Amino acid sequence: MSGKQAISLEFFPPRDIAAQEKLVRSAKQLLALQPEYVSVTFGAGGSTRSGTADTVRLLQNLGCDVAPHLSCIGATRAELAEILNNYRAQGVRRIVALRGDLPSGMGGDAGELHYASELVAFIREHSADWFQVEVAAYPEMHPQALTATADLEHFNNKVQAGAQGAITQYFFNVDAYFDFVDRARAAGVSIPIVPGVMPITNYTQLARFSTMCGAEIPRWLRLRLTDFGDDRASIRAFGAEFIGQLSQALLDRGAPGLHFYTLNNAEATMAIWRQLSLRDTSVAVA
Ligand code: FAD
Repeated sequence: MSGKQAISLEFFPPRDIAAQEKLVRSAKQLLALQPEYVSVTFGAGGSTRSGTADTVRLLQNLGCDVAPHLSCIGATRAELAEILNNYRAQGVRRIVALRGDLPSGMGGDAGELHYASELVAFIREHSADWFQVEVAAYPEMHPQALTATADLEHFNNKVQAGAQGAITQYFFNVDAYFDFVDRARAAGVSIPIVPGVMPITNYTQLARFSTMCGAEIPRWLRLRLTDFGDDRASIRAFGAEFIGQLSQALLDRGAPGLHFYTLNNAEATMAIWRQLSLRDTSVAVA
């Protein structure tokens, strides 16, 4: 791996003991990639918010530098301050600050902070420089954004509020990422914008999630994946090769690192990693 290009890994809180055991196994395996840090999602995909804090502790006990995700939607300042106090007390030094999405049926109870930029400002006000703050970026635009220009301005607001790094939504089009980075640089944004990398293992799940989060699956890729039907092994093999090439192209063209959405599954991320010529040859990966 070249000097400054760092790997980070994202996990989600497990729902039961079996899932927790799988997470620990996966995390232990993936530590071979020597991630700069690992992150834990917050309230996403139906997981409970206390699940994040428990998972942070679990991963800290494995020796990881852990960055919890924190979303502000539906929360009060007092609730957010309590979470930040707890993380600070347990030695957390990095937070991924997000707006989040209101669960359906929660009506208009959006809480006291309405955008991630306000959460970043709140974290700075609460804890000064204690936390390194990462935010989300959307090379293919956030699904609720009215224009690409407005979305970039809103991204810039998060940086102005004190974000020091960004992780992108996943994408399958390398040019969309570099176009976004170029536009951000032209707007004066200089923080690292690390591409989020989603392994492909299950087409139905990927298609559903991509529709929700606004990631475009190009027509040719959709057709290739649907062609495999229920042949999961072929989807995994094709997916690993394709995402491996995409990741390599990102690194070759100067991305500051890669953030893997591991889905708590070591094998899919390892299969991509094995193809990266930039991996540190001193790292023994099975
Ligand atoms: P924001 O940056 O606040 O932007 C949200 C929308 O509001 C955008 O369309 C933006 O253009 C617009 N906007 C921003 N400011 C303004 C303004 N002042 N006026 C008008 N419009 C404005 N979700 C979870 O629930 N838990 C997680 O752990 C989680 N982790 C994530 C990790 C990554 C790396 C990414 C990319 C996403 C993650 N998400 C997570 C999803 C995220 O919460 C959603 O995409 C959410 O809809 C937006 O969050 P945000 O922080 O990008 O919001």
